[in-house]
Amino acid sequence: MKIAVPAEAEDTRVAATPDVVKRYVNAGAEVAIESGAGAQSRVPDEAYRAAGATIAPTAEAAVGGADVILTVRRPSPSVVAAAKKGAFVIGALDPYGDLDGFKAMAEAGLSTVAMELMPRITRAQSMDILSSQANLAGYQAVIDAAEVYDRAIPMMMTAAGTVPAAKIFVMGAGVAGLQAIATARRLGGAVSATDVRPAAKEQVASLGAKFIAVEDEEFKAAETAGGYAKEMSEGYRRKQAELVATHIAKQDIVITTALIPGRPAPKLISSEMVASMQPGSVIVDLAVERGGNVEGSVAGEVVTVGPTTIIGHRNVQGRIAASASLLYAKNLFTFVDTVLLDKEKAFAPKWDDELMTATLLTKDGAMVHPRFGGTAP
Ligand code: NAD
Repeated sequence: MKIAVPAEAEDTRVAATPDVVKRYVNAGAEVAIESGAGAQSRVPDEAYRAAGATIAPTAEAAVGGADVILTVRRPSPSVVAAAKKGAFVIGALDPYGDLDGFKAMAEAGLSTVAMELMPRITRAQSMDILSSQANLAGYQAVIDAAEVYDRAIPMMMTAAGTVPAAKIFVMGAGVAGLQAIATARRLGGAVSATDVRPAAKEQVASLGAKFIAVEDEEFKAAETAGGYAKEMSEGYRRKQAELVATHIAKQDIVITTALIPGRPAPKLISSEMVASMQPGSVIVDLAVERGGNVEGSVAGEVVTVGPTTIIGHRNVQGRIAASASLLYAKNLFTFVDTVLLDKEKAFAPKWDDELMTATLLTKDGAMVHPRFGGTAP
């Protein structure tokens, strides 16, 4: 089996680290890495070579003849053209993004695996890229806010007087939000958080933060069987907005992380709420690439609106690329090892495995995922 890792054109992360290259090689695979693929994650070509990989001068040379192509984002058209028919492309392929890209990969005869669609079951936890990357994004969001915030975050009692603790509010207490809460607490902030899923209440409390939410009947039923948030009614959102409005006016830092799979991010902070904040306050909109939770946030920019700086960095996990690549590469290795290799470590895709059927988008020239009009192979 040959595994290839092209360099990413639009991401700082890389889909394999030297640690997983060793594991692939131990499993009998030949691994080709495009020269420079790990540079932004602080992995020089030499480290890959030492782990047993060969270094290819171009992406096309790396992927030629490969059975498995590991990526962070969708592969470039030239990688798709150079890939052999039947090869797997495994990455964060943005399954809800433009369908034409998938059609092109289907036409090239590629089997594409969108890791974002991994079911949230115990067996798949170690392959869950949404969790591994959101966790780091939640951490980094607080670090980004702290960098812009002009005051100290912890309470400091000194001979010269007392600096009050920063009030930090986290909206959306999923994987990213819970890590943001934990990070904000470690920095000494006075932390509160909200979510529409009732299960979040206990998790927020267990991290020592205060839970703020409208806890009506709709709230009690606001979780899907898969553990995700449902889209809330107009009435609930209005009540939530009123509660949030009074709370936000007193906050120094707000981190928003609210997402609904396959839907635009819910708008949680209006322009009026932004205007009501304290001078020097900071908002980080982690949902900015999915439409944003905050009115006035701009993807890829840091903007000042009235008293508030709104941070809208794209690809926040990519801002700590070395850590993000370490976890991402491990997620992909576990998937390859579990679903593409048999007990003797021979390349033998398990087409019936629920992890395969949940994530496979194209195969043999067709769109096969039920969610995109196909029937599973
Ligand atoms: P996500 O990234 O889809 O959304 C982030 C958070 O935003 C969620 O907690 C969601 O409830 C919240 N949200 C949505 N609309 C909101 C609104 N209007 N106001 C406030 N908050 C809103 O979610 P996620 O981080 O991927 O996690 C979702 C759940 O899945 C969590 O309970 C998480 O612990 C669970 N999970 C389970 C596994 C597993 O393997 N069992 C793995 C990862 C996550």
